Amino acid sequence: MFKPADKIQDLQFFGEFGGVNPSISDSSTYTFLSAKSMFDTFEGNTDGCYLYSRHSSPSNLYLSAALAQLENTEAANVTASGMGAITATLMQLCKQNDHIIASRTIYGGTYAFLKNFLPQFGVQIDFVDITDLNKIQTLIKPNTKVIYLETVSNPLLEVADIPAISKIGKSKNIKVVVDNTFSPLSVTPANLGADVVIHSLTKYINGSSDTVGGVVCGSSEFINDLKNVNDGACMLLGPTMDSFRSASILKNMRTLHLRMKQHSENALYLAERFNEIGIKTVYPGLKNHPSHEVFKSMYNSEFGFGGMLTIDVGSLEKANAVMELMQERNIGYLAVSLGFYKTLFSAPGTSTSSEIPADEQKEMGLSDGLIRFSIGLDNDIKRTFEQMKDCLKELNVL
Ligand code: PLP
Repeated sequence: MFKPADKIQDLQFFGEFGGVNPSISDSSTYTFLSAKSMFDTFEGNTDGCYLYSRHSSPSNLYLSAALAQLENTEAANVTASGMGAITATLMQLCKQNDHIIASRTIYGGTYAFLKNFLPQFGVQIDFVDITDLNKIQTLIKPNTKVIYLETVSNPLLEVADIPAISKIGKSKNIKVVVDNTFSPLSVTPANLGADVVIHSLTKYINGSSDTVGGVVCGSSEFINDLKNVNDGACMLLGPTMDSFRSASILKNMRTLHLRMKQHSENALYLAERFNEIGIKTVYPGLKNHPSHEVFKSMYNSEFGFGGMLTIDVGSLEKANAVMELMQERNIGYLAVSLGFYKTLFSAPGTSTSSEIPADEQKEMGLSDGLIRFSIGLDNDIKRTFEQMKDCLKELNVL
C-alpha cells in the first residue's frame, strides 16, 4: 500500500562531509572543467551537472525529490511561492485561445490570476461549482486544456471528487491540475488520477509561517518542460526558490506527518463541539458535510480530514469582534495563511477572498459572517474549545 509519510521517511540525503542534513548549495553558478560539457549541459544532455541556480541547485533538487515522494509523482520542481507554482504551471499548459475550467471556490490570488491576468494573453476561463460533474462536462470545449481545482477549496472547504474529475479529464485529453495545499498527506491526488499537483509550501508543509514557497509535482516530462531553457515557464519566468529556504523547508517537512495528525485531531474535535452547540460549522470530517463521503473515499485515513474549518457567526461585525477577542485571549492570531502551530483565523470575504467581487461571493455561498480557522497544534484542545465558547457567549453569538 502507498503510504506517503513512509516514502518521506525512507529518503536518505547526506551532506558533503557526511552531515545528516544535505549541504546547502551556496552558489548561483557552477564551474565546468571543459567548455564542451558546459555546452552539453545547456542542451540538457548532461545528467548531474549544475549550470545556474535559476534552473536547478542541489538544495532545490533535494526538496523537490522529497515533495515528489510526498505526492507520489515522478518529479517535482520547487518555486519561490505557491503563486509561482500555479502561474508557471498554467502558463506552461495553456497558450493563446486555450480554455481552462476552474473551480469557482479557490484561493483569491489564483482566482484573480485566472479572471484578470490570463485573459490578457487570450486564455479563456470558465468558473464552475467543482462538485457539479455534469456542469464540468457541459463546459468542455475542443480547446479546453486544463481543469483546475483545489482538493479542499479555500475558503468554503468544498471537496472535489478527484477520481471522477480525472476520469473526465483523461477521456478528453485535458490535464487535471490540483492544488493540494489544504490536505498534504491526507489526500494524494496523483494516486487518484490528477496530472499535476501543486502546493503552497508556505502553509502546512513548511508549517512555521517563516517563508513563502511552492512546488509543482508531476511527470518527469512535465517538470523538465517547466525547466526547459528555451520555453520553460519556471526557467523563463524565474520563480526560483533560494537554496537556504529549500534546506530549511526540507528540515521542517520531516515532522509534517506528526503535525497533520495533530491538526486534524484538533480540528475534528472543535468542529464536532461547535456543531453540537449549534454553531454553523463546515468541516469535511463532519458527517453533515456534503462531500464527507467523497473525502473518505479519497483520504489516507491516518492523517484525518485536515486542520481547516469554518464557522458562520452571522455578520461581519460579529466575526470581527469574535476574532479580536480570541486574539486578545491568546487563543490564536487574527492572520491570514494556515498550517501554523498556533490557530489562525480570518474573515475570508474581506481578506484572502477579497479579490472575488461581492456578488460572486454571495452566489458561491461565501457569507459575511464566515470565519476561517486554521486549527493549531494545541496540546489541550478541550481547554481551547472552552475559551472559544466563552468568547462566543460574551459576544452573544451563542
Ligand atoms: N493555494 C492556496 C490554497 C492558498 O491558500 C494560497 C495562499 O494563501 C496559495 C495557493 C498561494 O500560495 P503563496 O502565498 O505561497 O504564493
